Amino acid sequence: MRDSQQKKVYDAEAAAFARDPDLVWFGSVRAAQRAANEVTRSRLWKALDGPAFVLIKATRSDAKHSMALPWRNEILLDMKQPSYQILLHELAHVALWNIDKRAADHGPEFVLILRRLIEDNMSVEQRIEFDKQLDARRAKYGLNGNTKVQNKLCNTR
Ligand SMILES: [Zn+2]
Repeated sequence: MRDSQQKKVYDAEAAAFARDPDLVWFGSVRAAQRAANEVTRSRLWKALDGPAFVLIKATRSDAKHSMALPWRNEILLDMKQPSYQILLHELAHVALWNIDKRAADHGPEFVLILRRLIEDNMSVEQRIEFDKQLDARRAKYGLNGNTKVQNKLCNTR
């Protein structure tokens, strides 16, 4: 169940962004860090009670993909695929972990936070396309009765 939700999220991201000509790609870790800093200084991030600073590092060359290490306020970004959307995906993991350490990795609350980050930092068209692809796969997004996440997200409007 959880795996299939993860696959739906990954597939929706790939369908929405793999060939998106407007997607931003970082040329360096430093550029990704600057973009992360803009997000972590935003009103949305503060309302989510995200950590004031998230350190961006490159993954080791043998790593398969980017990953968040939220307990260290760190993101390891795969510089073979350093897209802005992937950065937002990893930041959503950091935000959710700080709100509720028991929430599922790619569950409904995760997707809700990711959608808000995309809405806040990418274009309306990109947000619409992502929603369309999530809906096409029936990926779950919502609060799932999670009041911790709900209370934070209510503060962001
Ligand atoms: Zn993930």
